[in-house]
Amino acid sequence: MRPAPPGRVVARGLQMTNLVVVHMGDCWAVAKSSRCLGVSRAQAVDALRQQVPACTHCRPHTALGVLD
Ligand SMILES: [Zn+2]
Repeated sequence: MRPAPPGRVVARGLQMTNLVVVHMGDCWAVAKSSRCLGVSRAQAVDALRQQVPACTHCRPHTALGVLD
């Protein structure tokens, strides 16, 4: 079961508590991961600001305006 792609997606790590990478909802890499969850824009921005890496394919930090 795969719901409609959310605006942003954050992939969780093995612990299911630590976030490992932020994606945009339409990123092709999301479809390959089974541990992604949709989040709001604010949550995605928050994750990026907390040093969660941005996906290098969909570049959510650019889309969200979070640039170091
Ligand atoms: Zn991505």
